[in-house]
Amino acid sequence: MRQSSLFLPTLRDVPGGADVISHQLMLRAGMIRQSTAGVYSFLPFGWKALQKVERIVREEMDLAGAQEMLMPSIQPAELWQKSGRWEAYGPELMRLKDRHQRDFALGPTHEEVVASLVSDDIRSYKELPKTVYQIQTKFRDERRPRFGILRGREFLMKDAYSLDKDEAGLDESYQQMYDAYHRIFSRLNLNFRAVTADSGAMGGKDTHEFMVLSDIGEDTIAYSDSSDYAANIEIAAVLDTYDAAAEPAETPEEVETPDQKTIAEVADFLEVAAADCFKSLLFMADGEPVLVVVRGDHEANEIKVKHHLGAEEVVLASEKETLKVLGTEPGFIGPVNTPAEVNVLLDPAVKVVSSGVCGANKSGMHLKNVHAGRDLSHGEYADVRNIQEGDPSPDGTGTICFKEGIEVGHVFKLGTKYSEALKAEYLDDHGRARPVVMGSYGIGVSRALAAVIEEHHDDSGIIWPLEAAPYDVHVIAINAKQEEQLALAESIYDSLRQSGMEVLLDDRTERAGVKFKDADLIGIPVRIQTGKRAAENIVEVKCRLDGEVEEVHTDDLPEVIT
Ligand code: ATP
Ligand code: MG
Ligand code: MG
Ligand code: MG
Repeated sequence: MRQSSLFLPTLRDVPGGADVISHQLMLRAGMIRQSTAGVYSFLPFGWKALQKVERIVREEMDLAGAQEMLMPSIQPAELWQKSGRWEAYGPELMRLKDRHQRDFALGPTHEEVVASLVSDDIRSYKELPKTVYQIQTKFRDERRPRFGILRGREFLMKDAYSLDKDEAGLDESYQQMYDAYHRIFSRLNLNFRAVTADSGAMGGKDTHEFMVLSDIGEDTIAYSDSSDYAANIEIAAVLDTYDAAAEPAETPEEVETPDQKTIAEVADFLEVAAADCFKSLLFMADGEPVLVVVRGDHEANEIKVKHHLGAEEVVLASEKETLKVLGTEPGFIGPVNTPAEVNVLLDPAVKVVSSGVCGANKSGMHLKNVHAGRDLSHGEYADVRNIQEGDPSPDGTGTICFKEGIEVGHVFKLGTKYSEALKAEYLDDHGRARPVVMGSYGIGVSRALAAVIEEHHDDSGIIWPLEAAPYDVHVIAINAKQEEQLALAESIYDSLRQSGMEVLLDDRTERAGVKFKDADLIGIPVRIQTGKRAAENIVEVKCRLDGEVEEVHTDDLPEVIT
């Protein structure tokens, strides 16, 4: 590509409103331009970079046996109604009506579409397993689009879906994707970690997020300094127990105990509206104390209940009838900074005897007001709280450290939630109908591109890792008005391209300083400059990463740059 004709509007100054480096550099390097909040055009240089990331993702998906396809962005509301997510997804779902007033969603993800395809077109166990994927624009009306393409409202995602006969098959498919994700993010030269995560609204069991370690990350990872333990702090709660008798100083205050309340009242009591993340509740059920953690979940539009003393789930209220959101944004209960109110009816059999409050990432969560003798018959005083730095690792090895992370990928064992809802069934070898066991696997392709820049840059601009670089080599005629310099640059450009490289030729008649600044900014790994010694066929080869310059005869070029 000739730079003289490339649509590459580079900027000298840092544009206002761009808070993070990757956003600033993508604007300055002429990669993206904002259309409206969270919506961007990819200009040619940015598009080329995005395609490089796409290529890596595609190669590794294919290698893992996944098959590429393309599903529609426009999805009929009926599919989402069947899965329950038309309600549950909340205002993040972009909705539209056609001319006949029928409802549609712009796809934020495609579990429903996949399940409905399976329901129509997979019949027998002989057709399983299968994994399909697509790379496609997704739409989410994010509450706070920000950081450029890191959190867009329209963004590029790779989403894959595995279809298996049973859990064992799902385990295998999941592992294949998990391994592929490791290869993808390694090839992108990202400093990442797979962490256990919250299965949340998606249902299902195992789930891992792939986090790029970065100070601007919006998630916090709790990891052990000496083992493989790593978890999103959303799920990394720990339970401390004390012997009540041994801890008289901790005697909690008495509290007015509501016996049968609506959650509207309980919510007040719990200050659900103010909580960032978790609430703990201590219930007496069948005379037994049950400690649970309740969390507002914005995706599910539900209050999630998790045991912390047992594996079973306590059903407090059925999703539809009793959970209702009254807040300023209907349908949204956010775990983070969401001023929404919650109105839920508790099962009358359940008696709230105590509660505690915490904010993720902030203070620990304490079960205040627990009266050990009264509330916990076995005499222990329990204290559920978020994990903190310095805690012993829950796996027993090492000490917990915190680090911020950018979620670039997410793998989920969905199980049969969507296949049951959408009748995605197959006939097993006994002719019995069974729901297909599903997994879903996302990568934020555009977000990953920004994460690469966030990690690989210096004061002058981007420093592309080799595999993500939009071009392999940048050939620069330092003074393009000098015929010898331009001619030599042109001939190098031609021969490198013939050898299969992607090359950008700076043939502009700009001042050398301008050209060098642009070259640093757009960060192509290898630069070949033709200058004063062009007549002798001697060029400068400069490495963007370490800035080292070498004078090389053109005969030796192939050797030097490979
Ligand atoms: P986040 O927690 O950042 O909102 P998510 O958990 O809602 O992300 P998933 O539903 O797991 O996202 O989607 C799969 C992947 O898509 C994410 O791991 C992330 O890399 C990417 N992604 C999600 N939302 C956005 C967005 N608004 N802009 C860019 N990429 C996104
Ligand atoms: Mg999200
Ligand atoms: Mg997330
Ligand atoms: Mg996620």
